[in-house]
Amino acid sequence: MNQVERMTSARLWAAYHYPYLASALFAIRFIDADNIGGVAADEHFRVYVDHEYTSSWSSQSLGVEMVHQVSHLLRGHAFRAREIGLVEDDVFHWVDAVDAEINDDLIENHAAPVNSALPVDLKLASSLFAEEYFVNGERRAGQHRDCGSAAHGDPRRWEEPPPLNHSDGVRTEEADLIRRRVASEILSHERSHGDSPAGLLRWANGLLNPRVDWRRELGATLRRGVAEISGAVDYSYRRPSRRASCSPDVILPSLRRRVPLVSVVCDTSASMSERLLAEALSEIDGLLVSSGVRLDAVRVFTCDAEPGPAQLVRSASEITLVGGGGTDLTIGIDAAVLSVPRPDLVVVITDGWTPWPAMAPRAVRTLAVLLGEHPPPPPDWVQGVVVEDMTPHGVKVESHSF
Ligand SMILES: [Zn+2]
Repeated sequence: MNQVERMTSARLWAAYHYPYLASALFAIRFIDADNIGGVAADEHFRVYVDHEYTSSWSSQSLGVEMVHQVSHLLRGHAFRAREIGLVEDDVFHWVDAVDAEINDDLIENHAAPVNSALPVDLKLASSLFAEEYFVNGERRAGQHRDCGSAAHGDPRRWEEPPPLNHSDGVRTEEADLIRRRVASEILSHERSHGDSPAGLLRWANGLLNPRVDWRRELGATLRRGVAEISGAVDYSYRRPSRRASCSPDVILPSLRRRVPLVSVVCDTSASMSERLLAEALSEIDGLLVSSGVRLDAVRVFTCDAEPGPAQLVRSASEITLVGGGGTDLTIGIDAAVLSVPRPDLVVVITDGWTPWPAMAPRAVRTLAVLLGEHPPPPPDWVQGVVVEDMTPHGVKVESHSF
């Protein structure tokens, strides 16, 4: 078989086993790339193949690679890498995280692509989002893989420039159409066969049925905030580097991920809905834990119209709504920002009827969780998520402690 025949047969293998991915698989342009040590892709559905390196691979192995590469493109991994501000030092760890997000579906039926990370390699469970694998996953030692800019958005040396016309590669608008077509194929395949992989099904549902679900929005916003803070790695001499054995006389700095400190400022004025407050607190609690924030790194400040210091409480169940007029959250936000150690992220839970500090606190990210149907918007420097009442009244809500 020559190179063209190998690619054709691998693509047919992939389209036969993953029929709902056909629109994406047949959009691929194959490009010869010597010495890249495998297969990689760019953001324009161009798959770069090192034919010498892969000469002994079966159609199935090459086909799995194609499914893997189009999965990077469909799930928008390059866009998501830009969204969390990925830096070059973390590229390989990010590739492992996005690979884990893809491969847990693939290995249900086939072998994973060569040298590509699985959730277990990062010491985490399956079915998580790449951002979770990135923040909470262990780094793989001694092994890495570069799937190209399709996975991380940073063009590699072997990649061709962005396409000027249709025949050079898939452009952004066309890529969006391919994504929607594939998502719709996955949903109809699920209806007729019921065996679409869980991860792809979740992706397709999210793309085509974007319900305004405050839990999802809050989750994405909070995870992004935590990932940005954790991504700001610093070199620390506190723990010896693993490379230290190579140079025993010199103490090398080790790369240490920061655990973000989070403060929650909670509006306790009487106008708040107690049930929504409990729901929001339990959601935030779970999201922080799943994003890798330790519970002892979270402080809760309560704040109503009373002047005076904000109270520090140990558990959400200690929060009680008090009577009285309006709210002034500036006191609570100031108390949180000025506390030592200074928080990286302040989450403000309020019905929005409050004055805000005139300016953004320095080096502290602020997120507002706004309870109720039409809360007044917070200032521009605050990222807001509106939490609406979506469940029937009378649902029992347990109290959760931080
Ligand atoms: Zn990959």
